[in-house]
Amino acid sequence: VVELVGCSDIGGSTLRVALADRAGNLLGKKLYPHAQSDAHSAIVKITIELQALACEHQAELCGVGVSAPGPLDPTTGIIAFSPNLGWREVPFAAELHARLPVPIAMDDDANCAALAEQWLGAGQNAREFIHVIVGTGIGAGLILNGRLYHGARGSAGELGHMTILAGGPECRCGNHGCLEALAAGPAIVRHARDMMARGRTSMLRQDTFTAREVIAAARVGDAVGVESIETAGRYLGIGLANAVNLFNPEVIVLGGGVAVDAGELLLMPARRELERRAFPSAADTVRLVQAKLGDEAGLIGAARMIWSELDRQKE
Ligand SMILES: [Zn+2]
Repeated sequence: VVELVGCSDIGGSTLRVALADRAGNLLGKKLYPHAQSDAHSAIVKITIELQALACEHQAELCGVGVSAPGPLDPTTGIIAFSPNLGWREVPFAAELHARLPVPIAMDDDANCAALAEQWLGAGQNAREFIHVIVGTGIGAGLILNGRLYHGARGSAGELGHMTILAGGPECRCGNHGCLEALAAGPAIVRHARDMMARGRTSMLRQDTFTAREVIAAARVGDAVGVESIETAGRYLGIGLANAVNLFNPEVIVLGGGVAVDAGELLLMPARRELERRAFPSAADTVRLVQAKLGDEAGLIGAARMIWSELDRQKE
C-alpha cells in the first residue's frame, strides 16, 4: 500500500481536493464550485472525496493538509472569521478529524502558497523568503530561517495593511492608506477611474470595469490602463522596500490573480521603486519574481505542510 496525504484548498469560490505523494505530485485533482457552501458541507465533501481517492489509488491516507482563507489559528485549526466565506468560529480541523481520524494540518492560503513556492516553485530552497499575493486584497506568507513565521497569534505577514500613505484611501480594515487600498485589484480600478474623472480618455468606457479589464486595456497600449497599473506597482514597490528592509529576503515571489494577470506591467514599476527605496545591500540581495505554481499552490503547500508535520511526529 502506497502512503499518500490528502490536501484541500478552500478558496472563495472553489473547493479543491487531491492526493499528494512525498515529492509533491498531485493525484486525482478535483475542483468543485462551493459558492454559499457552509463549513459543514465542505468538511463532508472533503471527507468523501479523499476516501474515494485513497480507495481508487489503493493508498493509505496518512494525513490531511488544508489551506483555508484566513485569519485562522494554525495550532487549533479554528477559522475565526472568514469574510469571503461568511464562516465564523468554525473548529474546522477538529470536525474534519472526527470524520477522518488521521493527523490534520491547517494554515491560511497565503502561508500555504508560500510553502508551495518555496518547495517547488519560484522560491526553491530560499531560507529567507516572502510570498506576496496580489488579488482583491494583498496578503503575504513569510518564511524566515527556513520556516513559516506566524508571529505571536498567527497574524504575521499582513503586508497589505501596512500604512503606505498617511491619509490615503480607506481600506477594508478601517485604516487609511494601507498598501492593499493602493495596489490591489480594486485600487487599480480606482486609479483608472480617477484619471478618467480628470478628463483622460481611455478605451475603458463603461461606468463599471474590473481590474482584469484595466490590465487587458494596458496590454493593448491604453495609456490610462498602463498608468493605473504603474501607480499600483509603485505603491507595491514601496511596501516591498519596507519588507526588504525589515527581513532582508533572498527572494520575493509575487502571485495572486492580479499579479499573474498583469505580469511585468506591475512587476517593473514595483522593482524600480524597490531598488530606489530599499537599503542598498538588502536591495542588491533580493530577487523579485513571478509565482510559478498558479492555482495549484494551495494544494501543494497543504501537502508540504502535512508531510512536514508527519515527519515531526516520527522524530
Ligand atoms: Zn488595511
